[in-house]
Amino acid sequence: MLSYQHGFHAGNHADVLKHAVLSLALARLTEKDRPITYIDSHSGAGCYDLEGERALKTGEASSGVLRLLGRNDAPGGLAPYLSLCERLYADGRRYPGSPAVAAALTRAEDRLVLMELHPGEHERLKAAMSADARAHVHFRDGFTGLTALCPPVPRRGLALVDPSYETDGDYPAAAEAVRTLARKWPEGIVAVWYPLVPRRAAATERLKSEVAEAGKGGVLCVEFCPSRADESEWGLFGSGMLVTNPPWRLDEDIGACLPWISGALAADASASSRLEWLSPRQ
Ligand code: SAM
Repeated sequence: MLSYQHGFHAGNHADVLKHAVLSLALARLTEKDRPITYIDSHSGAGCYDLEGERALKTGEASSGVLRLLGRNDAPGGLAPYLSLCERLYADGRRYPGSPAVAAALTRAEDRLVLMELHPGEHERLKAAMSADARAHVHFRDGFTGLTALCPPVPRRGLALVDPSYETDGDYPAAAEAVRTLARKWPEGIVAVWYPLVPRRAAATERLKSEVAEAGKGGVLCVEFCPSRADESEWGLFGSGMLVTNPPWRLDEDIGACLPWISGALAADASASSRLEWLSPRQ
């Protein structure tokens, strides 16, 4: 039984990092004329109401995306993501989940493959994407779905692996997905999001080293923590993304945006961010 619902966390600092990196990768991928496939193994509801009961209960967007709206000093690379956030917020206080970010930043010839296993979230996802003929929404397990649906057509593209990490098994399953895709879809780009929580530090380090070993074409790692980790705390103190086979110059694009994100979302002077190659491009 799945209990995680992303609506409680939509637009928080971790979503900003994930969706900003996703938008930069899609910008590079769509520079060339050839079409792409975007795959989201754990799609969530697609779009979120920041004034709905769930979002208001945690208020997480107030230390996330809401701090960015209306700022006029953002690096140019963030413009597509931020203008989407501004537009949806103005139009009904909404925030784009990863499927909505991908839908907005891809072209008519591109294809979207979206998987979600929570029945309620799947219904919301279907409704959110119903007007988009490019979107193929599947009610299925994202990990087995990745194996079954890859390599996709078109073969150029990116898969976002963004499980809820409700169970310890999500860590090895994410690493296994990268290994499988490296074999079945070597030209694909795989982006794996992960939470930084003290009690899961060992599992996180294992995930990073397994992805660094398995990922084709080099593995980039980007992390952001709004404040220093408190070992006694239970919850999320930061998050990270691993990108295998990253598009050319994605590292520079992230490097140009990360200090601004970090400055805008810092909770205090102990905020930190890092960008590094865990394994170099071959
Ligand atoms: N990618 C979304 C975004 O950035 O807007 C957020 C996804 S949320 C972190 C994780 C989602 O995975 C939840 O909606 C949850 O219901 C779903 N989920 C959990 N286990 C799953 C599985 N095995 N296959 C597919 N979806 C799953």
